[in-house]
Amino acid sequence: MAKKKFPELEQRLFKNVYVCMRCNSKMKTSLKKIEAGKVKCRRCGYAFLRLKNKDIKV
Ligand SMILES: [Zn+2]
Repeated sequence: MAKKKFPELEQRLFKNVYVCMRCNSKMKTSLKKIEAGKVKCRRCGYAFLRLKNKDIKV
């Protein structure tokens, strides 16, 4: 349905939201923390996360 939404809104919604590449649980964190290697998945402890943003285009 919603093909083109408001970029600003998407930015706000998905900024700093990351998804665990193993269990796909979402978590809010900042890029700085990820770059510093301080972020791990709360559920499985996996350290590789990706931006939720990239999930939009399939
Ligand atoms: Zn996980």
